Amino acid sequence: MTNLTRTRRIAAAAVALIAAGGAGINAAQGSPHDGPGHYAPGAAGSGDPYFPSAGNGGYDVLHYDLDLHYAPPRHPSVLAGKLTAEATITLRATQDLDALNFDLRGLAVTGVDVDGKDVNRGAGPAEWTQVQDDASRTWELTVGLRPKLKEGQEATVTIDYGGATGRPEDTTGALYGWVTTADGAMVVNEPDGAPTWFPVNDDPEDKATYSFHITVPEGKTAVANGLPDGRPRISGGWTTWSWEAADPMASYLATASVGDFTLSYGKGPHGLPIINAVDRDVTGPDLETTNAALALQPQMITFLSDLFGRYPFEAFGAIVDDDSVDYALETQTRPVYSGVAEEGTVVHELGHQWFGNSVSPADWKDIWLNEGWATYIEWLWAGHTGKATVAQQFADTVAELDSGNLWSMDITDPGRDNLFSGPVYLRGAAALHALRAKVGDEAFFAGAREWLEHHANSSATTEDFEKVMEDASGRQLGAFFNDWLREGDRPAMP
Ligand SMILES: [Zn+2]
Repeated sequence: MTNLTRTRRIAAAAVALIAAGGAGINAAQGSPHDGPGHYAPGAAGSGDPYFPSAGNGGYDVLHYDLDLHYAPPRHPSVLAGKLTAEATITLRATQDLDALNFDLRGLAVTGVDVDGKDVNRGAGPAEWTQVQDDASRTWELTVGLRPKLKEGQEATVTIDYGGATGRPEDTTGALYGWVTTADGAMVVNEPDGAPTWFPVNDDPEDKATYSFHITVPEGKTAVANGLPDGRPRISGGWTTWSWEAADPMASYLATASVGDFTLSYGKGPHGLPIINAVDRDVTGPDLETTNAALALQPQMITFLSDLFGRYPFEAFGAIVDDDSVDYALETQTRPVYSGVAEEGTVVHELGHQWFGNSVSPADWKDIWLNEGWATYIEWLWAGHTGKATVAQQFADTVAELDSGNLWSMDITDPGRDNLFSGPVYLRGAAALHALRAKVGDEAFFAGAREWLEHHANSSATTEDFEKVMEDASGRQLGAFFNDWLREGDRPAMP
């Protein structure tokens, strides 16, 4: 994510850390695993300390097939649309299950079947129920399983659901999820916004492949992750756009944005398909800036591939919407930009395809591994293109951290509402540059490549990163990482 305006504002005001967790569901509750043959419900949360009711336990999703029928607002003055959808979720049990949960927020379930067998609504063991509690941020669909599901067994759950779409907000009040816009929807889920448009195991550790079939009024364009699956199909005044995302993806990186987009198709290194969607209402200097930045995507991919290894996915591109959520997001293979795509932002979101999307944070507190790296990649690109040396950008950032008194935040555990605050980005990037100065270029880039290779299409923790860098450099780095990531004082400069 890139959000300088909001980032800086929060950074100045909110270095007092907000202790998250506590409220909500005990993730361990409801999932006793006391012996073979004992069937139990999967947990209602996946155990993230910041978002205890996000994600679910007891199963691993393999594939989401999302059939979305969307009517955008009839009039731009009322930002509400209508979504009617069916999700077909293929999953594998990771424990013996007699019930399991999905996260789904603000939309009503109308029908569920498991392996083609209808499940009735109700509170019985073989029935489904839905809880929508905004106060505790608990939005759960529970599906009873009869027959029960044995560990290792696969099942396909089909869920019909829908309702009015609005403008959901995260815990800081920022727009996210399925954000209804005047001409469609801008869909950006980080961190826990995916349940605003599909039933999901909303845990960045449970990656899956996705198919999207998005039906919108004829003339509208729907853009998701991955590659188009055939040409759009037109029928009765509606167009269905199908996209296939074959690379494993965390749910916070899924998108299905709808608008008045113009699509363009190009190629990157090794024939990588690059598909850009630019809103027809992006015009003038914003369009010039956007076109210039998007034209650099192939060169940026080559530059980062040379440093960090081959681009990790099957496609890339951009979705540039004239509507704004005030930030850009690295949605997998196709980042979403608000109003304009600037060069520094484009290379930042591209950098996330390696750092964040291929290797994702195990818990949300590990967010600096995403944002520190993406920020450092902005510095590397600016250095490469001669705009400013990396040393100068490091010095400027240290000065900014000094003047804003921003050293006090432990960025390995910044607090739920500081995920996208200034220190996570700035201190994170500064720490990486200091690490490079300490271990040398060879060990630093070898460690980065090892990190990306070892944890590709998976997720990992700050401790995992420290271990990879210690192995790559042959040095003990515990004290270094504590000084640069965790301690509340300004570290000694390299
Ligand atoms: Zn970012």
